[in-house]
Amino acid sequence: MVKPNIFSKKTLIKRCENDKYSRKMCNFAYRKHKNKNIITLNSNLIMNKFDPATNIQKLDGRDPFRGVNPSISDSATFAFEKAHLMTDTFHGETEGYFLYSRHWNPSNMSLCNALAAMEGTEAAWVTGSGMAAITCALLHEVKQGDHIVSSMTTYGGTFAFLNNYIKKWGVEVTFVNFQDLEAVKKAIRPNTKVLYTETMNNPLLRIANIPELSKIAHENGARLLVDNTFTPMIFSPYQLGADVVVYSMTKFINGKNDCVAGAICGTAEYINSLIDVNDGTAMLLGPVLDPMRSSSILKNLHTLHIRMQKHSENAMYLAKRFKEVGFKYNYPGLPEHVDHELFKSMMNQGYGFGGMISIDMGTAEAASKIMEIMQDKGVGYLAVSLGYFKTLFSNSGKSTSSEVPEELQKEMGMSEGLIRFSVGLDNDIERTFQLIAEAVEESKR
Ligand code: PLP
Repeated sequence: MVKPNIFSKKTLIKRCENDKYSRKMCNFAYRKHKNKNIITLNSNLIMNKFDPATNIQKLDGRDPFRGVNPSISDSATFAFEKAHLMTDTFHGETEGYFLYSRHWNPSNMSLCNALAAMEGTEAAWVTGSGMAAITCALLHEVKQGDHIVSSMTTYGGTFAFLNNYIKKWGVEVTFVNFQDLEAVKKAIRPNTKVLYTETMNNPLLRIANIPELSKIAHENGARLLVDNTFTPMIFSPYQLGADVVVYSMTKFINGKNDCVAGAICGTAEYINSLIDVNDGTAMLLGPVLDPMRSSSILKNLHTLHIRMQKHSENAMYLAKRFKEVGFKYNYPGLPEHVDHELFKSMMNQGYGFGGMISIDMGTAEAASKIMEIMQDKGVGYLAVSLGYFKTLFSNSGKSTSSEVPEELQKEMGMSEGLIRFSVGLDNDIERTFQLIAEAVEESKR
């Protein structure tokens, strides 16, 4: 029999963290230990690292007729056997009853259960686009006179919302370099309610230090909202201390480029307040995802782990080949990336370093020429977006970050010749590399 080891809080948490167990798991282990329900480092609890894919796999998705996929709920409204049940449902006092599809419907609930399992949150809610998830989550945190501190490097649509739109509601936003934690601290004001960042940012692929940002937010009475669109399964921001995790499911989660969709993950209390019939931002602005689409996204979610592994494997291959031939590349999976160690300290094991990679061609003209040749050669498509099974590429400064003023692009360190790749699921990635190298050569002629 294994003898139990009893550790102090500091030692136990340190040992857990060294082994990259989730912070929440470490705290849980400590609580158990204090309650004398002794935890050993070889107990099941601690040995089970947080694994988003296994958490999804454990769910039973069968419908009441034993169909292996949940049935699609094709109703906008739902009937009650008794009038009082309707009233009680309006007041959130019933369980297992649905009222109206803008609030909840069974198909969305199946997808939300799987997303909550993936993130290790109590609940989730799904929206008609990633921007709907981001804007609802942000608006739900603030009121007139409040302040948000946002990373200066975010998806262009998010930047535009924070820089141009939300001020109409009397909310101020300060943009700072989230790599500089002191600058984040300095930007906080007494009325700061939210720190906002992407885990892996767009398009520079810098990594946000979620545990430290969470500490800063909580010490100052603010909440940390994280967009994890680029790195589902690779990072679990809620496990690292974020309060709310948002996704554009349009990208890797769905992976088919056949729809736009979004998700918001957090505690049950938070999700319930988001869809409160009286003052819930999501309920009242009404950006709910269509149940038909929920059903198709759920099926795609079940292959996400395999896709993430392949996207990561292919991007890593390209990064190594780009390095060999001397391209100016950017990939957080290689040790020379400035955030490589931070990435490793936060990542879940087994999903790699992600499918996003960029190369810098110096000028926007050079980038345009190379992208057109790459498309003609069949590398993939000259298109915005990411997470598709084919490789997509775009010149960030002229596309997904074009809402960011040029001076700010420069301040972020974004070159005008930056080509961002979302690397596809190509079976022969050496062929892809050869085509890219040929395109670069041909563009010089
Ligand atoms: N977040 C990130 C990181 C994105 O790249 C995008 C879109 O490109 C969005 C959010 C917005 O998502 P959607 O287009 O689904 O509204």
